[in-house]
Amino acid sequence: MINFQYLRTTVVKTALGLVSKDPKAAFIAGGTNLVDLMKRGVTAPEKLIDINHLPLKQIELKNNVLHIGALVSNSALAENGIVKEKFPLLMLALQSGASAQLRNVATVGGNMMQRTRCGYFYDTTMPCNKREPGTGCGAIGGYNRMHAIFGTSESCIAVHPSDMCVGLATLDAQVVIVGAKGERKINFIDFHRLAGTTPEKDNNLQKGELIVRLEIPVNNLNKNIHYLKVRDRSSYAFALISVAAALEIKDGLIANVRLAMGGVAHKPWRLTTAESFLKGKIATTANFEEAAKLAMKDAKGFGENDFKLKLAPNSIIEALTIAKSKA
Ligand SMILES: Cc1cc2nc3c(=O)[nH]c(=O)nc-3n(C[C@H](O)[C@H](O)[C@H](O)COP(=O)(O)OP(=O)(O)OC[C@H]3O[C@@H](n4cnc5c(N)ncnc54)[C@H](O)[C@@H]3O)c2cc1C
Ligand code: SF4
Repeated sequence: MINFQYLRTTVVKTALGLVSKDPKAAFIAGGTNLVDLMKRGVTAPEKLIDINHLPLKQIELKNNVLHIGALVSNSALAENGIVKEKFPLLMLALQSGASAQLRNVATVGGNMMQRTRCGYFYDTTMPCNKREPGTGCGAIGGYNRMHAIFGTSESCIAVHPSDMCVGLATLDAQVVIVGAKGERKINFIDFHRLAGTTPEKDNNLQKGELIVRLEIPVNNLNKNIHYLKVRDRSSYAFALISVAAALEIKDGLIANVRLAMGGVAHKPWRLTTAESFLKGKIATTANFEEAAKLAMKDAKGFGENDFKLKLAPNSIIEALTIAKSKA
């Protein structure tokens, strides 16, 4: 049995103090990922600071910027009227994640911080540089069907598992963080990291810092949108590949476009080269095909996941085609 202390507070400053003073303390929100990791012995915090009673559950539009508290549940966010109207792509991404029961307790902050689903990471008898730096990577040359094809390193080829984050990667979202030195903001797209030589670090949050909210400016990418999730079964499964696609079509031309993929990299993967190609062009199948080809330029398979090299471009084309067809 693993012993740990459980503490609860309603004050952000107290929560920060408790975690920053103690290297073995961790925040717990919905617990849907952290408790699994504790049960499997992947992590063993000695102190859990329950943050569920902090005042971080707002969803408010202020000066055309949506403020979303870190403790808003994934289902409350997907069901919110402003999100449905102004950020429907985020709504679709949220709805495709996990199950209704999990979405009811999974929080925005926890979803961003959830750890990879690589099987070797969860199996403490196997080598894994992310769990135990320097031990090697079981997935390279092993079972890697779910693994990355972009931005991989010799240390780790794991993917980031979140659907919500793929939706957020298409928006100009900012993450608001507080720590001992006060508040700071980081662009959402820079929040998660590639594995490089430090796969144990999933993101740029420092120890003791707390995500307090997201800020998302309203844009015109709310009509021709689609979130395509390809998975082994129709619910309750992580993405093999997912694509978030948003088009703004004006006078028959693509005025603006956002594309991001999940299931392909250590972080939500924004397809900027494909976006640049499509801007100013007509939304035709031929242009979508060319954009998908450009997006795949640096892709690399690891054996069992080679099928993603074909599935990914096909998914990009399909997501763009469905987005275009929306009236
Ligand atoms: C069976 C199953 C299927 C799933 N399928 C999917 C899926 O298809 N798509 C998908 O996207 N997700 C899926 N998930 C993952 C699920 O969405 C995440 O577990 C959930 O979003 C995590 O949120 P939480 O609030 O429960 O986090 P917790 O488990 O409480 O915390 C996770 C981590 O975040 C840290 N943390 C939490 N809040 C903050 C904060 N505000 N600031 C700083 N650190 C914080 C914690 O310390 C911990 O390290 C699945 C999970 C399960 C169990
Ligand atoms: S891919 Fe990353 S998480 Fe998976 S075994 Fe290798 S180092 Fe660990």
